[in-house]
Amino acid sequence: MAVPCGGSLRDTWDRFFDRCSRFFPCLSDPARRSALCLKLALVVLHLIYVSILFIFDKDFIEKTKQQPWYTAIYLSLLVATLAQYFLTSNTSPGYVLEAMRVVNETDALVRRKSVASKQPASSNNGSLVVTVDADQLGRNLLGSNATSWTKVVMDMYPPGTSVRTWTCSYCNVVQPPRAKHCHDCDKCVLQFDHHCVWLGTCIGQNNHCRFWWYICEETALCLWTGILYISYLKSNITKAWWVDVIMILLLATLFVSLIFLVLLLLFHSYLIMTNQTTYELVRRRRIPYLRGIPERVYPFSQGVCRNLYNFCLARSTYYKMERLPTAQELEEKARPYTCLDALTCRCC
Ligand SMILES: [Zn+2]
Ligand SMILES: [Zn+2]
Repeated sequence: MAVPCGGSLRDTWDRFFDRCSRFFPCLSDPARRSALCLKLALVVLHLIYVSILFIFDKDFIEKTKQQPWYTAIYLSLLVATLAQYFLTSNTSPGYVLEAMRVVNETDALVRRKSVASKQPASSNNGSLVVTVDADQLGRNLLGSNATSWTKVVMDMYPPGTSVRTWTCSYCNVVQPPRAKHCHDCDKCVLQFDHHCVWLGTCIGQNNHCRFWWYICEETALCLWTGILYISYLKSNITKAWWVDVIMILLLATLFVSLIFLVLLLLFHSYLIMTNQTTYELVRRRRIPYLRGIPERVYPFSQGVCRNLYNFCLARSTYYKMERLPTAQELEEKARPYTCLDALTCRCC
């Protein structure tokens, strides 16, 4: 009987993989493949935690029979969390290149129709809002008129700022304030927050809100699952010891995850209320437009309520770019802190 050698086994595997790649093109890219594996692992991990309750916790099964709505709500939270995870992961963070296409496309449209009321961009409370639907991005107008984008962006910087200073050397596009090039995505991202390995995407202007909701739902699910595990251990401690060991180990990891999630949720809530990003907070001293601004002054903040309103109502198909505050605006924002210092400092 012929035994397949290592080489033929490898050929068979390669052929199988080629076939899979034909049906699922994303598998041919190693980066996308590892991101897919990570997503699959996350779903499996969620399912393990929940299925263990249905396998070992007889009280939970009994409760499901008596109060099906309780388990239905719990399972709905699980489905909603996983759905939110995939939704956030597949939402564009708002790439600079996409915004540039929209600006150029709108500008070309306005020029063609010569309609004075339709401007490529409009000023709104000191920020620039590109009010064009991102679904139109399919039409390739990129490069047809790059100067309109450059003009729009450079208007957000103080007069006299060099275009070269804010041109990304990788994408060769002028970055608006708060944008940053992500080396994992190899693209410039609007209002760059961070690149999330778990989601396999950047967190930026368009998906930051969804990201916050995902952490919120994950925290709630983690907390609820932890409570169910604790109640199992309380009532079934005399049953099989190995089941208890598994439950305790899972509960310990749940507890660690819960601490991490709560801290992450609080941190991002603080960032949202002050209109900052993780990148701006961590690299504050290295970002040219934040250098020299007092620690307690948040240059893009418009007050907690306005910041929350802007954040919650941000639509994923719109691009919002904020201009840099002027020296006078910064001075006004820093004034309350100067007064506080004056109260405590005897020198003033
Ligand atoms: Zn770039
Ligand atoms: Zn990225």
